[in-house]
Amino acid sequence: MGKQTCDGCGDRVTIAGGIANIWTLETQSTGGMTLEFDSDGTEHFLCFDCMDRLPDDPTGEDVSALGEA
Ligand SMILES: [Zn+2]
Repeated sequence: MGKQTCDGCGDRVTIAGGIANIWTLETQSTGGMTLEFDSDGTEHFLCFDCMDRLPDDPTGEDVSALGEA
């Protein structure tokens, strides 16, 4: 269990374990996930609130825009 800062809103969220299980449904104690964007090859850690606000094909610029909203 650890804390990680959301790249979108800047909130510190709790994460459970490593990132190996990010694609499973073990999200009860985890507030966010590291996402890799195919569109530009970048990786960003985001809380679930920010993930909900991303467009379907997000880029690093969309993550930056989250923090400005
Ligand atoms: Zn966030």
